[in-house]
Amino acid sequence: MIVQREAETKGSRQKISFFMAAMQTDTSISRRGDPEIQTESSITPRKPRDFGRLLGQQVLELLLPSTCRMCDQCVPAGQDFCVECLQQLQSSEHLMQFACIRCGRPGAGPIATAAHEEPAVGCPSCRRQRYPFDRCIALWSYDSLVRNAVVASKYGNQIALADALGRRLGARIGQVWSRQQTRELANGTHAESNATRPATAGDIQDWSAPDFITSVPSHLWRRVQRGAGGSRVLAKSVARFLRSRWPSAVHTNLMSATRQIKKQAWLGEKDRISNVQGAFRVSTGGLRSGFRGRQRRPLDGKHVLLIDDVMTTGATAGENARVLKQAGACRVTVAVVARA
Ligand SMILES: [Zn+2]
Ligand SMILES: [Zn+2]
Repeated sequence: MIVQREAETKGSRQKISFFMAAMQTDTSISRRGDPEIQTESSITPRKPRDFGRLLGQQVLELLLPSTCRMCDQCVPAGQDFCVECLQQLQSSEHLMQFACIRCGRPGAGPIATAAHEEPAVGCPSCRRQRYPFDRCIALWSYDSLVRNAVVASKYGNQIALADALGRRLGARIGQVWSRQQTRELANGTHAESNATRPATAGDIQDWSAPDFITSVPSHLWRRVQRGAGGSRVLAKSVARFLRSRWPSAVHTNLMSATRQIKKQAWLGEKDRISNVQGAFRVSTGGLRSGFRGRQRRPLDGKHVLLIDDVMTTGATAGENARVLKQAGACRVTVAVVARA
């Protein structure tokens, strides 16, 4: 596998990169990205105390040139992907422009309709399905290069890759939100800022900002086996990327796994549902100080953006969304790097 080979060949360079990544501020990490998805944070002037760190990065770039996160080809500083990989990824992104906004299935959906048109609720393949989540944003289709990247990003030795995927997903989420806000403006329904408008239960077309950004959890034992990679890193990168857009959105590990589950990829559709049933719970410990017992449930009226690496049947994301709604969440938007 291309990306796994990358992990083996990078050796000491990766160790140094991880060391530098640990030293990096949020702003410096977001500097690395494709020109088309640069955010405001990437052009914010740096403080003087960042100078030493920036100098260190530039020295590192000179000694150890940047490489494509997917295939290890050298790339210009600040780029995540080489031209060949980027072409494949952009082609997949183009396909996903036509994805269903409810289930994220490629080529199915209403998202490509003109700005003034209302999106239909669901596509032919999901219209009769009931999902505990309200909508799904998917960055890429789960094929070839993307499949390799998603599998590799689960492991702790590929944090830089997971971080790059998270930033790309963050950019995609921002694009979808902007498009929907444009549609709201065109329809005269965008009455007030999406950053301040409270979430409305059950309204798929209400694109107010999420209150929480979190990830689908892995069991502790799996995290020990794989290292600190996967969805947690993705969610952290997504939150960092979208911080300037949603300053009030809180990034936190809202969910935890109550038991180990079998790998969903090994199971059929029905078994996938039973495999994850009761396997997750909301961890409210980190939220108590903010809520102070005023609310009946910790997530009452909240909109949660739930990040995962891949969605196939939607069973895992669905079970997480079900638990989040039990805890009071009025809306759950799922965002995934890849949709199978
Ligand atoms: Zn490449
Ligand atoms: Zn659909």
